Parts: sequence; structure tokens; C-alpha cells
Amino acid sequence: MQNKNDYITMLGTGNALATRCYNTCFTLHGEKGVLLVDAGGGNGILTQLEKAGIRREDISDLFVTHAHTGHLLGCVWIMRMALQFRYSLRVWSHKTMHLKFKYGLPLILLAQIAFMYLISEK
Ligand SMILES: [Zn+2]
Repeated sequence: MQNKNDYITMLGTGNALATRCYNTCFTLHGEKGVLLVDAGGGNGILTQLEKAGIRREDISDLFVTHAHTGHLLGCVWIMRMALQFRYSLRVWSHKTMHLKFKYGLPLILLAQIAFMYLISEK
């Protein structure tokens, strides 16, 4: 049975080449947390969350549907925020995505952290 407090927030409805809206992604809100489904193609996800009034630390789960950049690259920012501000985030995906998360995204995150460290030293 559907809970009256369950709802969906569309954060983006565009395809990978969208310029006037954000890539397709959305949140599902329920009593057990907020599930973010895909995160678009970059750090624009942070703006979309802010516009929708969704605090990033309230996102309990992230589900990545597939490895196209318009769905995946925003995940880097969501994962970075969770690591940087130390809140928990469960990440879900098809098993074929696990290698990308295991090796690809950590490298991107490390590069970002290294960059932040370098610019903070100046
Ligand atoms: Zn796609």
C-alpha cells in the first residue's frame, strides 16, 4: 500500500545533450529515506538538489541505472559529498557497474581530492 508521504521529485528530464534542462534523474522519498536514481552528467546535480530543497545528506541511497555519462558523472559528486561531509550513502547498481565503481570512480574521486588539496595550499 502506498504511503501518503511517498513522492517523486524530478530533478532533470533531458537527454545526454540537454542544454536547457538537466539530464534525467529523480528522487523517490519514502519513510525509510531518499533514493536518488541516477545523478545526471556533472555537478549540476548539486544545483538541482538545492533548487528542489533536497539536502544532499538526506539522500540515503543512490541507484545508477547504467554507465552512460549523462547518468553516471553526477554520481561522482554525490559520492564525493558523502565522503567529504561524512554521511552514509548506499550505492546500488547492476553488477556490471561494480567494476566501474570499484576502479573508475575512486580514481576520479582521488583526482578531485588531490586537486582540492593542491588548490588549498595556495
Ligand atoms: Zn543512457
